[in-house]
Amino acid sequence: MRRIVVAGGGTAGWMAAAAIARTMGRAAEVTLVESDAIGTIGVGESTIPPLVNYNRLLGINEADFMRATQATFKLGILFDGWKDGHDRYFHSFGLTGKDHWAAGFQHFWLHGLERGHQQPYDDYCLELTAALQSKFAHLPDNAMNYAYQLDSTLYAKFLRNMAEADGTTRIEGRIARVELDGERGDIAALVLDSGARIEGDLFLDCTGFRALLIEGALHAGYDDWTHYLPCDSAIAVQTENVRPAVPYTRAMAHDAGWQWRIPLQHRTGNGIVYCSRYLSHDEAQARLLGNIEGEALTEPNRLRFVTGARRKQWHRNCIAIGLSGGFMEPLESTSIHLIQRAVLRLLRMLPSGAISERDVAEFNDQQHTDMLQIRDFLILHYKATERGDSAFWRQCRDMEIPDTLAQKIELFRDTGRVFRKNEELFAENSWVQVMLGQGIIPGSHHPIAAKLGDEELDRLLGTLRGRVRDTVAGLPAHGAYVAHYCGAD
Ligand code: FAD
Repeated sequence: MRRIVVAGGGTAGWMAAAAIARTMGRAAEVTLVESDAIGTIGVGESTIPPLVNYNRLLGINEADFMRATQATFKLGILFDGWKDGHDRYFHSFGLTGKDHWAAGFQHFWLHGLERGHQQPYDDYCLELTAALQSKFAHLPDNAMNYAYQLDSTLYAKFLRNMAEADGTTRIEGRIARVELDGERGDIAALVLDSGARIEGDLFLDCTGFRALLIEGALHAGYDDWTHYLPCDSAIAVQTENVRPAVPYTRAMAHDAGWQWRIPLQHRTGNGIVYCSRYLSHDEAQARLLGNIEGEALTEPNRLRFVTGARRKQWHRNCIAIGLSGGFMEPLESTSIHLIQRAVLRLLRMLPSGAISERDVAEFNDQQHTDMLQIRDFLILHYKATERGDSAFWRQCRDMEIPDTLAQKIELFRDTGRVFRKNEELFAENSWVQVMLGQGIIPGSHHPIAAKLGDEELDRLLGTLRGRVRDTVAGLPAHGAYVAHYCGAD
């Protein structure tokens, strides 16, 4: 298993090549094939906090990375109009308040509501309050949890430099054919237009939506989840910045989907996500261009997708990483994260000799669980809506949902409780923020909150709010902090 061939050089291909080359050194021989003529998808700008650790694992200097990718910091996502069309709420990366081991902070907050404390749940979260005031700083002990908004093309380039310096061989050219080993049905080699044959022991399919190896050659199959997440189209356009970049992404609902706005240092990424059954491409494009700030810097880039997951992410000697493994809309910025999880998982399960079917089964099971959990979290945003103003929202509001999600929603509605299973990506506070934001208010709370007398409760809530307020007051403006950190001021 020395020869690892990476097919495709988008974010997925270079994230995989860079991590394997850096971790394995001479123990692996990494070759990456990419086609300049085909290019990459060119979107994927908003990330979540685990990417900070991924970069650290790879020994990347954060300021170098931010300069190279024109990144800004991200503290969460502002959702506009998801509950009733006129509301807004924030899903932050931070903790809210202070948990007791038996009960999350929401139980104490709910008890406070009963006792006349009217302050919003949001006022107890440092990251959320800082984001809305557009402030940021690195705090001791990672007290401010953050991610990045970045230019994914520049990120792939940055990782390419690293991977090549660590010994990865890059071959430019179009893969014309995937050659199978006649006896075992494994992939034996990639054959390029030029006739060159690239042999390998393990192949990573990072060819994007094309899924040339895992589907084109190995027919791993695809589960279509469009009945839960009906959006199937997007249009992206980049614009010039007209204001200092804020440390959050916006997700603005419209009557057939939503629109993103992601501010980077040098420009802003915008896009509209929609269901083509309810909105035509031309209407979507007009709507997007009518709701951007600043001049467009690129032509609108139209994308179609089928929400779902490859049935086997690892099949024979091929592993799908990135869009070849499946796709769910970027509402919670989870695609790059799924690449990261797949790469780290592969590194933990890298075969030393023949591939173990146990490894394959374990990898597929873990990857599938991640995707199902993310899928449920995304469905929540559509299902838990009071919107009935369009056929799209009525379909979402009335749709059947997976039992796993129904259990989570109803448990919260009854008791205020949320449980995290199987290393789920989104922790209790993420679910609580989105469920409260979408209008699900629990009917009761944990009895432990009632243990506090009025005075103690006053003191607890007042102290927690005061700490957030005072910390945020002392933070610099996000734009100035980024400029200083990247040495641009
Ligand atoms: P690609 O970028 O498509 O790369 C495929 C590679 O394969 C390219 O190098 C191509 O040249 C090569 N290739 C293909 N065929 C051949 C061939 N025959 N021969 C040789 N080479 C070939 N993710 C996030 O985390 N956050 C976001 O905010 C986000 N927003 C998104 C918005 C939209 C509308 C979409 C569609 C996706 C978004 N994503 C987001 C997902 C993100 O863009 C991808 O996960 C990420 O870019 C990885 O893409 P990839 O490398 O798998 O595919």
